[in-house]
Amino acid sequence: MSEQTVHLWQEIKKNLEEELPEASFETWVNNLEYVDLEDGRIELVAPSGFIKRGLEERYLDLIESTAQKLTGKEKEVSVRVAESPKDGDKAAGGNENRGGTDLKSPPVSSGSNSTGERSNPASPGVNSTTPDPQGKTGNSPGELALNREYTFGNFVQSKSNQLASAASRAVAESPADSYNPLFLYSKVGLGKTHLLHSIGNHIKNQYPAGQVIYTTSERFAIEMIQAIRQNSTDEFRKKYRSVKAFLLDDVQFLENKEGTQEELFHTFNELYGNEKQIVLTSDRSPQEFSDLQDRLVSRFRWGLVADIQPPNFETRVAILRKKATQKGLKVAEEVLELIATRISTNVRALEGALIKAVAHANLAGGKLEIEEVKNFLPDDTKEAKELTVDSIKEVVASNYDLSTGDLEGKSRKKEIARARHIAIYLSRELTDNSFPALGKKFGNRDHSTVMHSHQKIDSMIENTPLLYEEIKELKEEIRSNFDT
Ligand code: ADP
Ligand code: MG
Repeated sequence: MSEQTVHLWQEIKKNLEEELPEASFETWVNNLEYVDLEDGRIELVAPSGFIKRGLEERYLDLIESTAQKLTGKEKEVSVRVAESPKDGDKAAGGNENRGGTDLKSPPVSSGSNSTGERSNPASPGVNSTTPDPQGKTGNSPGELALNREYTFGNFVQSKSNQLASAASRAVAESPADSYNPLFLYSKVGLGKTHLLHSIGNHIKNQYPAGQVIYTTSERFAIEMIQAIRQNSTDEFRKKYRSVKAFLLDDVQFLENKEGTQEELFHTFNELYGNEKQIVLTSDRSPQEFSDLQDRLVSRFRWGLVADIQPPNFETRVAILRKKATQKGLKVAEEVLELIATRISTNVRALEGALIKAVAHANLAGGKLEIEEVKNFLPDDTKEAKELTVDSIKEVVASNYDLSTGDLEGKSRKKEIARARHIAIYLSRELTDNSFPALGKKFGNRDHSTVMHSHQKIDSMIENTPLLYEEIKELKEEIRSNFDT
């Protein structure tokens, strides 16, 4: 490598270091080796296939445009994986194993890497200081605690969820014996998470501690990235592969996350091969995924795929009755029926209306007049509103005390720019708009500008648990408004 090219790479790195969050820079960029190809193209050598794919997905455009900016010439950049482990070590700056763990490879045999660190199995393998506003996490950022209220006993079985609930019970009774994997799907608020927790709670009562892992695909992805950064991929793998049952909620969030799909694929094979139960949920059937590896989709279909439909009127009333009893609330049957008439597609909304009705009754001195309930209940039998970029802008703006005009405008004030990035990110994630289309909707910006906003938030989420929670809450608020 000539001095000049080393210099260019140093300059590119300096630019990227300013541009990217520190942890992203360390994970994705700092360990690359730079090769200047004969014809002016640039080749980067990544220490692992995982890093290569991550780079290609996230940062290649940015690296190319930075190189172009610095040289004034169009620069094509490609990435390859280091050929031998030695090569990889070199790319990783000689630092043994650093960032060079390829998640594609099967777990290393137990003898290697036995440094004696973290020998206590009870100690969390990864960062345990992750904030947990809901108090829900287990002992690692990837794992979530089970909600004790979500049991089979508290779940109303009906025609609309018959197969899903019967299969869930079967799986809970004898893991890996009946349907493996079990794949549950439905629109939001119809009981997937409830059933997943019910399975987990049931198994937890039957087996020694630590045999069930419940998590969401978003958490799984974050934990994987952290494990790579902290060199604890071995523990990460071991943990997921040593349980009786692995319960993974909302796999649709794995779309476009190549690296996490890769790891899930290997985790899946390992668990399946060792006769461990896998249960997955999603907002759509496996066939409906567009950005999920085919081999993963086909595995999702190996066992039983069961959907949950919206409950009919009788079931809605039965669910409301159950919820009221569970919460110790006395609510007249006619009020339950009114709520069940007005809200038909989402059980979570049904529950929300019940609580609202009771709060109202308390204010009104305990008596709930049916006419009154009619006034404050929403009516989802009217046409459902569509989730649009405008509606996302409204939710984001109101959360940050800004106007939707601020989000479209040119202000570079830090809070405004941040909220704008978030609104763009959410619009891309939650609607079908292309980057050019989004550019138009955000003050006629260029598509590369909005793409950059999206990338920025996407990589920050991985490294900032608080931002992750913030985005998650915004998503939930947006979804609950629009019932997607
Ligand atoms: P999803 O994961 O499909 O979005 P959840 O499992 O979070 O839905 O369910 C939303 C709410 O509705 C939860 O409070 C859950 O307890 C309740 N719920 C959904 N279906 C039922 C049912 N059949 N019986 C009792 N509660 C239900
Ligand atoms: Mg859910």
